[in-house]
Amino acid sequence: PTRSEITYFGAGPALLPTDVLEKAAEALVDYQGTGLGIAEHSHRSALAANIINEAKADLANYLDIPDDYEVLFMQAGGSGEFSATVYNLVGAWVTRKQQEALKQVGDDEAKVAELLQKQVATELKLDYLVTGSWSLKAYQEACRLLGSEHVNLATDARTINDKKFGKIPEESTWKLSKDAAMVYYCDNETVDGVEFPKFPDVLAPRADGSGPIVVADMSSNILSRRIPVKNYHVIFFGAQKNLGSTGVTVAIVKKNLLPPVCPQPSPTLLRKLGLPIGPIVLSYETIAKNNSLYNTLSIFDVYIAGQVLKKLLATYSDKVDGQQAVSNKKAEIIYGALESRPDVFKLVTEKPFRSRMNICFRVVKTNDMDVDEKNFLELAKGQGLEGLKGHRSVGGIRASNYNSIPLEGAQKLAEFILTFAGH
Ligand code: PLP
Repeated sequence: PTRSEITYFGAGPALLPTDVLEKAAEALVDYQGTGLGIAEHSHRSALAANIINEAKADLANYLDIPDDYEVLFMQAGGSGEFSATVYNLVGAWVTRKQQEALKQVGDDEAKVAELLQKQVATELKLDYLVTGSWSLKAYQEACRLLGSEHVNLATDARTINDKKFGKIPEESTWKLSKDAAMVYYCDNETVDGVEFPKFPDVLAPRADGSGPIVVADMSSNILSRRIPVKNYHVIFFGAQKNLGSTGVTVAIVKKNLLPPVCPQPSPTLLRKLGLPIGPIVLSYETIAKNNSLYNTLSIFDVYIAGQVLKKLLATYSDKVDGQQAVSNKKAEIIYGALESRPDVFKLVTEKPFRSRMNICFRVVKTNDMDVDEKNFLELAKGQGLEGLKGHRSVGGIRASNYNSIPLEGAQKLAEFILTFAGH
C-alpha cells in the first residue's frame, strides 16, 4: 500500500504529518540552501540554536507555559526520565533540607551533614501513583535507585480492579507522604488505556503557593489537551507520540528546581548521605545551563518537533484548545462505535478513566477471543487500518488516537468497527 492509503494507529512511534516529513527530507539533504543537511550542521551553530529556541518558544506558546518554567531537550527517552526525575528531585529535596539546616545549626558542615543523614533515613520519601504499566516501571526504577524504603506506593490501581489496571482509585484513598520529594504519576497510560480525567484535586497547590511537588509523565497525551502547567514541577515526554520523531525527550521544569534557587547538592554530600549520584546528562541543572546543548543533540529531531508545533499553531488559532476539541471528538466517535455493540467489544478501561489517546478493547464475537482478534486485525489491515494490535504484555486491540490521526481516520475506524460487529 502507499502511505496515503494507510491510517496508522500504532502506539509509538506514531505517524508524522506527511508534509512535515517531506520538508524534513529536503532539509536532510540541504538545509535552507546551505549545501549541508540539517543532521550534518554543528549543534553549536547559530542555525542549530535558532531551531532549538524556536521549538521552545512554539511549545511554550502552544501550551501556555509560564515564564518560570524551562524547556529542556534531553535524550534518554521517557525511560531515562524515570531515573532523571529521581536524581533531580531527590537532589532538590536535599538542597531544601540543607538550606533549612543551615538556618537551624549554622554554618557547621559536619553538623549539617549529621542532621541531613538523620532526615534522609527517616523522612526522605518519593510518592508514586501506580495506575498502569508505565508508572509501575517508574516506581520500580525509583526502588532500584534509592531502595524501596524511600519509595511510597501511594496508590496501586490493581488493588481495586481484580489485579489489573483499568481504574484510578479515589483520591481520598491515596496515601501521600508528608513533604515528599515528589508525587509522581503518569497522565496517560499508553499500554493500559487509562488517562487521568483532570489534574487531581489533592495535588493542587495551596493558596500560598506551597503544596506537593508534582511530576508527571505525559509521553502519550501531551499536546492533546490543556494542562495546568503551573501545578507541576516537572512534566516530561518522549517526542515519538504527539510531538515528533524518536530521539528527543522534553522536560518542562519549574525554575525553582534550578539554580540560583535550588542548586543540586555536591557529589561529596550525596556520597556522605548514601544517595545516588546521577549521570551528568540527566541533570536538569546541567542541561538548562547549556540551553540543551551540554552534549551533541539531534538537531534533526528538534527540527521535526518544531515543524509539528508550527503546523499545530497554524491549524488551531486557539492553540491546544483547538486540538483538544478534535482529540475528544475522535475518541468519542471510536468509543461510541465500540459501546454500541457490547455484545462484540469489551472495553478494558472503566468509563471515567478511558484514554482519549489509547483505546483498548477485546473482541468477543464468538467464544474464541484469539481468533476474533486475529480476524479483526486482518480485516482492518485490508481496509488500510494498521497498527491496532494491543501491547504484547496485555494483548487485545489498541487504537492509538494521537494528534496525527485525522478526524476521517477515526471515522473510518468507527465504521469498520460497526461493520465488523455485523447485524
Ligand atoms: N512513558 C509512557 C507513557 C510511554 O508510553 C512510554 C513509551 O511508550 C515511555 C514512558 C517510555 O518511553 P521511551 O521508550 O522513550 O523510553
